[in-house]
Order: sequence, then structure tokens, then C-alpha cells
Amino acid sequence: MKLFDVYPLFNITPVKAKDVYVYDENNTQYLDLYGGHAVISIGHSHPEYVKSIRGQVGKLGFYSNSVENPLQQKLAKKLTEFSNCEEYNLFLCNSGAEANENALKIASFKTGKRKVIAFINAFHGRTSAAVAVTDNKKIVAPINAQQQVEFIELGDSKAVEKSLQNNDVCAVIVECIQGVGGLNEATTQFYKSLRDLCRAYNAFFIVDEVQSGFGRTGDFFAFQKHGIQPDIVSIAKGMGNGFPIGGILIHAHIEAAYGMLGSTFGGNHLACAASLAVLKVLREENLLENTKDVSAYFFEKAKTIPQLKAIKGRGLMIGLEFNFPIAELRKTLIQKHHIFTGSATNPNLLRILPPLTIQKKHIDVFVEALIHELS
Ligand code: PLP
Repeated sequence: MKLFDVYPLFNITPVKAKDVYVYDENNTQYLDLYGGHAVISIGHSHPEYVKSIRGQVGKLGFYSNSVENPLQQKLAKKLTEFSNCEEYNLFLCNSGAEANENALKIASFKTGKRKVIAFINAFHGRTSAAVAVTDNKKIVAPINAQQQVEFIELGDSKAVEKSLQNNDVCAVIVECIQGVGGLNEATTQFYKSLRDLCRAYNAFFIVDEVQSGFGRTGDFFAFQKHGIQPDIVSIAKGMGNGFPIGGILIHAHIEAAYGMLGSTFGGNHLACAASLAVLKVLREENLLENTKDVSAYFFEKAKTIPQLKAIKGRGLMIGLEFNFPIAELRKTLIQKHHIFTGSATNPNLLRILPPLTIQKKHIDVFVEALIHELS
């Protein structure tokens, strides 16, 4: 059997990794400014993380959700401490798409409505409902032709209100900073208006923090900068530092209902142990502060990058926009300078999503490489 051909691959085989570095089978060291797609939050193979997962697998790796799991309770408690989201309840699943799938399901179930408002260039995942609210021409999903979704320009609150007036919308779903779609962010006023409009028209306000959550923007959640209170927040990626785990924070005004949600693996003991280690290290190593600090340094240093059109994003969720497609540059950065970066829907945008442990000296190395290639 061969692998189903899904991903265009770089010709590199990582076999180990440590902090911000990844090593291939020849022990060549690569600087990871991609974080395995915004997944690595506390650095690769952090000793605390390894200890936590190893310790847990030796005791109890898995048991079903039909019995009490104190690690889930502990994770909910710690998440509350970090995020100040006291008025929320936690449901645990395994990925970002699954989190959004469940968020949309709750919205539809509780409001009795079906239509969803999403935004142009949004990315919410590849499962059935999640892909239906994704606006990306490369991701086609005819299975969802019947899903009622209206894509609106990010920032256009008048169009959102007009759509809500039909009273058939169960949810508005938004990334506070679009990741795959190219680091686009609207104004605080816009996000506040979404909050108010959803309340006025009995629709759920879902904020997708799958990529931007867990400190990536320097705040624990990106929405916190805007002072808004979503009905549901979806989380994954950095939450497990590579161990598959996702979840939704569901506001306490939404009553639980047996049968509505469920998952065999969601919130299993190992996944919780991984996520608890992430939270511990985020705090002990002041990684939110580090994120802000290194980010400010990056934004300043970026002024020296030749041919740079714009720098976008927040914290360590950054896009460098050029006047030309970056595919070749990205390849050169990997092959010649041994630096991993990411791409976006916008072909001219290089995405930087490093582990939050990154230091200024790593930014220097990256900027030097860009100066070398683009001068
Ligand atoms: N939501 C956002 C904002 C994402 O960036 C992604 C993945 O890139 C997803 C959802 C889907 O997450 P997953 O790949 O874990 O299903």
C-alpha cells in the first residue's frame, strides 16, 4: 500500500527535534519558524512535556469518557486560570476542525436554525461543517453543497446585520486573526458589533482560536484584545504542542444536553497530560511575555528586509508580504539556509509561526538570510 497523495512535500525527513530546531536523518539542523503549522507552542521535546506524557502513559494512557477523568477537571481549572474565562464550560475533542464542527452543531441544535455567517478567506478545518464555512478555492467539498453559508467581507458589519435580519442564522464564526487566509484582522469595533448583533438576533458568536490561541498572539486568546465575550471558543493546535487535542469553551448560558456531543478519544489521559504540561511551561517560562518581546523585535527588524511590502499579524503569528510569489523563496530558505517557514492563501505572503520559546538571535539569523537572498 502507498500513501494517499495529499500533501505536496519538501524532500526532508525530520527524525528528532529540540526547542526551535528540527533535525533530519543526516543530523542537519533546521530552524523551525513554522512550528509544524502553529502547533509547537513550548518548543519541541520540552523536558517537562516529555516527563508529563511519559509519566502518564506509565500509569494510565487511556480510559473511556464513561468514567471520571480528574485530568480533564484539572485542565478545565488551569485553562480558567490562564484565560480568565470563568463563565465557560469545557468540552474536549481531538482537533481544530472537530472543535468547530461541535461549535456549529451546538449553535444549530440550540437555536433551531441552520444558516451560518462566515468570512471571506476564512479557514476553519476540513470536516463536513468546518469546511463548509471555509472560503478557500483549493479546498472543495461538494458534500456540503446544501450547507447554508454566507461569506461576508471581514469588517463589513452592515452586511452581517442585513443577513441576520432574516432570523435564520444560527451562528457567526470568525477567526480574530485569519491564519491560512493571510493574517487579516478587523477593528475592535467590528468584533464588538458581531458580539452585539449575535445577541440581538439569537445567533451564537463563535470565535475560532485554533491557531491564534494558547498565547500565540501574546494574549492567551486573540479575542481578548478586543474585550469581547464569545458564546463558544474553539481551541486546538498549541494546546497540545503536537499531541492531538482540541476543545470548545462553551459559555455557561448554554445548557449541556446528553447526546449532543461526544468523543471516544477526546480529553484522554495522555492528551490532558500533554496540555497540562503546555500550560505549566507557558507560565514558568513567561512565554506570553517572550512572545510580545520577540514580536516587537521582529516588527522592528523587519524594516531592514529588502522588498518587503508589509508585515501583518500579532505576537508570533506573523505574515511577511512581498510583491512577488514566495514559493521559490520559501524553498531556498529551507534548502540553503535550513529555515522552515509557512505559506498562506495569498501567494505573496510568507508565514512565521515559531515556537513561543524563540529568541531574538533566531530572528537575526532569519532576517540575515532574507537580506542575503533579496538584496
Ligand atoms: N481553524 C483554524 C483557524 C485553523 O488554522 C485550522 C488549521 O489550520 C483549523 C481550524 C483546523 O484544525 P485541524 O487541522 O486541527 O483540524
